[in-house]
Amino acid sequence: MLQFSLLNQDGFARRGSLQLNHGTIQTPVFMPVGTYGSVKAMSPANLNEIQAQIILGNTFHLWLRPTCDVISHFGGLHNFIGWDKPILTDSGGFQVFSLANMRKLTEDGCTFKSPLNGEKLFLSPEISMQIQTVLNADIVMQLDECPDGNSDKHTADKSLELSLRWALRSKNEFERLNNPNALFGIVQGALFSDLRAKSLDGLMQIGFDGIAIGGLSVGEPKPEMQRILRDLAPILPSDLPHYLMGVGTPEDLVFGVSCGIDMFDCVMPTRNARNGWLFTRFGDIKIKNARYKMDEKPLDESCNCYTCQHFSRAYLHHLHRVGEILGSQLNTIHNLHYYQTLMSEMRQAIENQEFNQFQAAFYENRNRGIE
Ligand SMILES: [Zn+2]
Repeated sequence: MLQFSLLNQDGFARRGSLQLNHGTIQTPVFMPVGTYGSVKAMSPANLNEIQAQIILGNTFHLWLRPTCDVISHFGGLHNFIGWDKPILTDSGGFQVFSLANMRKLTEDGCTFKSPLNGEKLFLSPEISMQIQTVLNADIVMQLDECPDGNSDKHTADKSLELSLRWALRSKNEFERLNNPNALFGIVQGALFSDLRAKSLDGLMQIGFDGIAIGGLSVGEPKPEMQRILRDLAPILPSDLPHYLMGVGTPEDLVFGVSCGIDMFDCVMPTRNARNGWLFTRFGDIKIKNARYKMDEKPLDESCNCYTCQHFSRAYLHHLHRVGEILGSQLNTIHNLHYYQTLMSEMRQAIENQEFNQFQAAFYENRNRGIE
């Protein structure tokens, strides 16, 4: 069962610990994304080496392949994928709603055609809870409707009302199934702060183990996302963990923490790594660039990841150019290590009541540029 302890606060930035069935994680935390039960290019040994505390699995993908029958046979996702630390699963809704022309939405749930074989499938709050119970994720997400990021106020309001009714149904089914894990509700309301507050209020009345913020970083201008986070910061419940879904860049993580966010996930460090886009303390590197052809330096001299300890930019450039899978692996190790280090430095800064100084140095370094 989940227990969240707030250890330190500096402004809205929070340092906490979150006790889950498969271990305790230190927050703020970044969760690498393992869509199909695998963080792409990373073995569990690699994940342990970069000190990942918790990973995310996508319910929609795992439901379609390998299917619940297989995962149930193995007694849950942890055993199936050989990962014994905490896992969070999403509800599957985001992927279903991304299948724009393949769905029919009703009060009951959402009908859609399987992108694999065209089979007609149905996802409801109850079915999402049933799948996530088979997966046995430490943190389960309610099913919500994800409206278009540019929705008008009337549409966003109707959508969040539906999401609140689905939140209650998710909670009821989660309890009926005696799921021993934690259940998070999701704040919607597009870019309208009053709707966001209304959504949060509705979730608090139902009662959840944590509060997630959904529907951001879906194409809206960055200042709009920041405005919503700033407006939510003072009204988020202090005794529950706050999870910002699907965000983002290193700058987004620092901004999020400054607004009281405790948990993040994003495909960016892993996906970008495979595309040769490396994040470092001193800005980003596009490793395919010809300027790195003879470069003997590691990606970042101050980074102590396996990649930076053993390999030059020139070698990573070469691996990328010839499409070797080792390039994807080494790049992913570096990017995730950078994200983990960033979170660990933020935790330390909050403990030391130095978060403002940390932010100033972070932006200065990131804008300095690569040498
Ligand atoms: Zn590195």
